[in-house]
Amino acid sequence: MERILIVEDEEKLARFLELELAHEGYAVEKAFDGRAGLERAESGAFALVLLDVMLPGLNGLEVLRRLRRTSRVPVLLLTARDAVLDKVAGLDMGANDYITKPFEIEELLARIRAALRTGARDGAGEGVLRSGALTLDAARHAAAWDGTPIALTHREFELLRALMTNRGIVMSRERLLEKVWGYDYPGETNVVDVYIRYLRHKIDDAFGVKFLHTVRGVGYAFRDPEGT
Ligand code: CA
Repeated sequence: MERILIVEDEEKLARFLELELAHEGYAVEKAFDGRAGLERAESGAFALVLLDVMLPGLNGLEVLRRLRRTSRVPVLLLTARDAVLDKVAGLDMGANDYITKPFEIEELLARIRAALRTGARDGAGEGVLRSGALTLDAARHAAAWDGTPIALTHREFELLRALMTNRGIVMSRERLLEKVWGYDYPGETNVVDVYIRYLRHKIDDAFGVKFLHTVRGVGYAFRDPEGT
């Protein structure tokens, strides 16, 4: 189920959107001000952020500007009818699209579907993956814990990236081998086990978390820790 974050201080509108999106089969979370919205959006837990521009705390454009330092999650801005400058600035800052209030729910749903398709394409390529305090910047090939770099070899990084990109999904050793080592290597899947041990040592053990799960007889899965 795709998760959508609604950042909107008008609680009645936020509630209405939540009901409509839930009805469409999305999992929905709400934030009522800019700071809370930014914090939730940065968690990496969402497939899309619906972001109102006029917000208390940080306004929506400032939320977007800060969010884009670490995340390429699709953002759809909710703007006031005549706020042309907000629309232009929002798109310049990396919003994927905007919709003007008041809007028809059908139009909003169509734009959400379109933005989610864009996000799915981006997710396959570059961008920053995040889970709790762990971030993986594919473009810079850098991993960090709460901003502090984690030294990973190329293979360790690629293995973690393959697992994180498919978070929650159990991946077989064969599939990981093919994705990370890039060739068919029958009978040599223990290399995956060895590298999982390295990653556990450098991340799970080092930071007292559990991201890397063994699924007996099947393979491995990256899961967000409880409470994130
Ligand atoms: Ca507002």
